[in-house]
Amino acid sequence: MSEWFAPLIDWYRLLPEADAISLVRLALVFVLCLGAIIGSFLNVCIYRIPLGQSVSRPRSHCFSCGKTIPWYLNIPVLSWLILRGRCANCKAPISVRYPVIEAVTALLFLLVFQMWANPHALLLNAIPGQVPALILFYWIFVASVVVDVMIDIDHRILLDRISLGGTLIALAVSAAFPILHHAPSWWPALLASLGGAAAGFGAGFAIAWLGERIFLQDAFGFGDVKWLMLFGAIFGWRGALFILMFAAFIGLAMGLVAIAVAKFRRTAADDDGAPFAIPFGPALGAAALLWLFWGNLLVDGLFAAHAWAFTHRTAFLGALFPLLLLSCGWLIYRIRAIRRAAQDEDLEELPEESGKE
Ligand SMILES: [Zn+2]
Repeated sequence: MSEWFAPLIDWYRLLPEADAISLVRLALVFVLCLGAIIGSFLNVCIYRIPLGQSVSRPRSHCFSCGKTIPWYLNIPVLSWLILRGRCANCKAPISVRYPVIEAVTALLFLLVFQMWANPHALLLNAIPGQVPALILFYWIFVASVVVDVMIDIDHRILLDRISLGGTLIALAVSAAFPILHHAPSWWPALLASLGGAAAGFGAGFAIAWLGERIFLQDAFGFGDVKWLMLFGAIFGWRGALFILMFAAFIGLAMGLVAIAVAKFRRTAADDDGAPFAIPFGPALGAAALLWLFWGNLLVDGLFAAHAWAFTHRTAFLGALFPLLLLSCGWLIYRIRAIRRAAQDEDLEELPEESGKE
């Protein structure tokens, strides 16, 4: 793989600096457009995969009038803005979530590209030949996270083809591109990937098991466990454990916001408990992206906090204790809400969290 790109990188290094910078800017614009187009495709996947429909046929059409959308009105983000969120044919409103998903995907693609292909790395001779493959792999990964998070919000399903298929692909990619685990050769990289998958599955399974024994409810579904296994296969055991920890905090924040919104609205939310029974997938997906882009920064910060904790023990415990209480309180509150919703048979119509697709 490295030989294919070597002439291109050599040519880039010989360019005058101003030309090199404009070339990189052009590449960034190209990556943004690519991300938006892929995001447009993800919108189709999110809607059609849970329904068992083909993602390629028929072409995109209006949900209201059924008219096929011509290509010039199907430009990511821009079309929605120009048409002001309405169908060009029947003027029915089109959800704002379509352009948002396109924009988010474009941003994630740009972040992945920036991480490994920034102009400084190119000029400093620091770019290893495996990087183009890594960028492609992480593009596919962030796209799969967007799809899984949105389908979990809509249907409470995490796709097995992403969790299980993704784990197999991650193992193969680890062996083919050891740089994924900063390993010198294929064998230690594959071992790191296998160990990570085992750690992710083990930690997730332990939480699911404990949740079932202590609260007699599955707070953490088997779909979450399998997804955590994929994160372990990509990021290693440290990544899997950190993602689980971050996800718990993000889940706590999401739960608090849901409670605040329900309190604010003062609707029937308190009776059916539905707003509290939020899926855990979005928290897991957000934690995985956080780890991908800012994992190193977070670990550095945490170790700095660790050193600080030893010198300021009282202050550290004083800050940690309310946070722990809050986490426990939220967990119990959420379990109670889910149980109440289940009694009302609200949740029984929902599909199993570990989906078949
Ligand atoms: Zn229409």
